[in-house]
Amino acid sequence: MAEETIFSKIIRREIPADILYQDELVTAFRDIFPKAPLHILIVPNHLIATANDVKASDELALGRMVTVAAKLAAEAGIAEDGYRLIMNCNSHGGQEVYHIHMHLLGGAPLGPMLSQRL
Ligand code: 5GP
Repeated sequence: MAEETIFSKIIRREIPADILYQDELVTAFRDIFPKAPLHILIVPNHLIATANDVKASDELALGRMVTVAAKLAAEAGIAEDGYRLIMNCNSHGGQEVYHIHMHLLGGAPLGPMLSQRL
């Protein structure tokens, strides 16, 4: 069983966060250290540690994460120009918080997908 992270406390509103959306499956809130003019994290309400831990029973929540990302992008007025959705996994992916989350980044041209080329 994976250990809870700070994101579970945000989802339960036990610690402050700028929550933009919440339903029975997912919660979306602003990243505390934004890496783009718009940087939102979209997370399932139940704990899934990494992409490696996703089960078929999680598919509804994972799909909802994408529809909520598109809705928030549209509401922010960045859908037409575009944005980036990122999900980091484990150390090589740069994952820091082990509660699976999708980054919604936009509001400016984001440059190449990766800062380093192989
Ligand atoms: P990761 O590197 O795991 O893909 O991304 C974790 C993200 O969570 C980072 O962008 C980081 O800024 C954000 N983050 C970490 N702790 C908090 C927090 O307490 N509140 C919020 N809103 N974001 C956080």
